[in-house]
Amino acid sequence: MTYLLICLASGVLGALVALRKGSSPPLWFLISAVIPILGPIAALLYRRETEVALRRCPGCDRPTRIYDAVCMNCGTELSYPQEFEIIEPTPSIRVRARL
Ligand SMILES: [Zn+2]
Repeated sequence: MTYLLICLASGVLGALVALRKGSSPPLWFLISAVIPILGPIAALLYRRETEVALRRCPGCDRPTRIYDAVCMNCGTELSYPQEFEIIEPTPSIRVRARL
């Protein structure tokens, strides 16, 4: 019973960390509940989505994540980004692009 409470608390902690960092709370809840204590630590060390650079899609000119292989808007296959396609992350661009 105590172990289940630790798993539940760990899952909630992992989900809260993921929420603050822009990751998926249900996914980090699951990871943190299955791997107590190490799960929330992994969530803390995982990249913050709002700090990842963006790139402009050559097909539709919409901002996408720099590590995406295919544009989620128009389906254009994306190769390694050129220097001029890279956009420094700003919150206003993310809100407009719904990233
Ligand atoms: Zn596109």
